[in-house]
Amino acid sequence: MNATIIEFPPTVTIPPHLVGEVQSKLAYVDERIAAAHIGAAGDNIIIELKEPLSTAEQATIEEKVQRVVVSMAQGAIRPKVQVLEDYLDRRVPFNGDPMPELARRGEISQEAQGIYVLGPLLTRLVDWFEQRFLDLAASFSAQPYRFPTLIPARYLEKVGYFRAFPHSLSFATHLREDLDHIDSFAEGAACDQHGNLNAPFERFAPIQTLLSPAVCYHLYFTLADQTLPPQGVTATAVGNCFRYESLNLSSLERLWNFTMREVIFVGSKEFVLENREIARQRMQRVFEEIGFAYRVESANDPFFIGEFRKQAAFQSAFQLKYEIRARLPFKDSTLAVGSYNYHQDFFGRHLSIHLPDGSPAHTGCVAFGLERIVFAFLAQFGFDLAQWPRSMQEILQ
Ligand code: 5GP
Ligand code: ZN
Repeated sequence: MNATIIEFPPTVTIPPHLVGEVQSKLAYVDERIAAAHIGAAGDNIIIELKEPLSTAEQATIEEKVQRVVVSMAQGAIRPKVQVLEDYLDRRVPFNGDPMPELARRGEISQEAQGIYVLGPLLTRLVDWFEQRFLDLAASFSAQPYRFPTLIPARYLEKVGYFRAFPHSLSFATHLREDLDHIDSFAEGAACDQHGNLNAPFERFAPIQTLLSPAVCYHLYFTLADQTLPPQGVTATAVGNCFRYESLNLSSLERLWNFTMREVIFVGSKEFVLENREIARQRMQRVFEEIGFAYRVESANDPFFIGEFRKQAAFQSAFQLKYEIRARLPFKDSTLAVGSYNYHQDFFGRHLSIHLPDGSPAHTGCVAFGLERIVFAFLAQFGFDLAQWPRSMQEILQ
């Protein structure tokens, strides 16, 4: 039978804490999936297809979905969520979705899925938050850096990124240095109705470079094969980050191309953990001043299916990641607008970054998603400036 909706129970019930995580991975199962939904009880999966498929084709998709479910959910133990700050209940003046109003004002212009131009209001808000993050960086005397948007494939290979996050990679290439290829491309290059470029693959050079998925990696590679000064290294940088999120790309909440500001600590374990904690406390004051509704809780990275269970459990067990989750009143949910991360001596070991005593350096970073924090701010405070925190009202003057 040809159908566009298939519905079936998962082989193993998906525990509530994994429903969102598994659902987001279903976008990568098959190109013919238009939408995927898992019932809140974790015992029902609904797959919407882009086109009607035969029973056999449906069975293939179901089998792949079950593989994801089993790999991520079988035997999964619910990690104990540790809450470090809870201000989710702060009263905020707005509860609408900012996107329609942003569109009406011409503040967002979508170039493609997950790629947006931001207008003057959003840009000024980004600058306001950036200044708070720069103040935080200055309070640690962090040294400023500028990192490239591209990153060599061999860098990401070296730190296991391909294994952990293959689904979200974005590749960069160029035409091969060959006059015939370049001439043919220049003459015939055109996009079809889907926006696909018609150039054949063999015109492009082998992939050696990707669009960078994170900011702090660049610093760790800069420090590779070095011995750190006794006081460690504290740095800050802002950069474009790329994570391909397939069907999950939506509004400013989830972008393919977003901007991250990081404050990065490299040194002994105590140095990194102490500074991560001090940074959290300093940001707590900033958020209090504006009356931001959020909470800080332990979290894990969105590892891909095969790596998910092991790596997520590891992160939880060692309290490696805390997220700042801002309230989105209009959908009664939260959004990660930043994170406090500790990588232990992972980068120190893999890249030979040493402490003066010869042992591998520890690293950590505090990262803020600029588009997300501004989106969450508008979701809580709306567009009436009189309702905004006083210190922010002047940004439009
Ligand atoms: P992390 O390294 O913790 O995954 O990301 C750091 C921060 O970057 C997140 O807390 C979030 O604010 C931002 N971020 C991560 N992924 C996305 C995304 O897909 N879209 C947007 N807009 N921001 C993101
Ligand atoms: Zn980082």
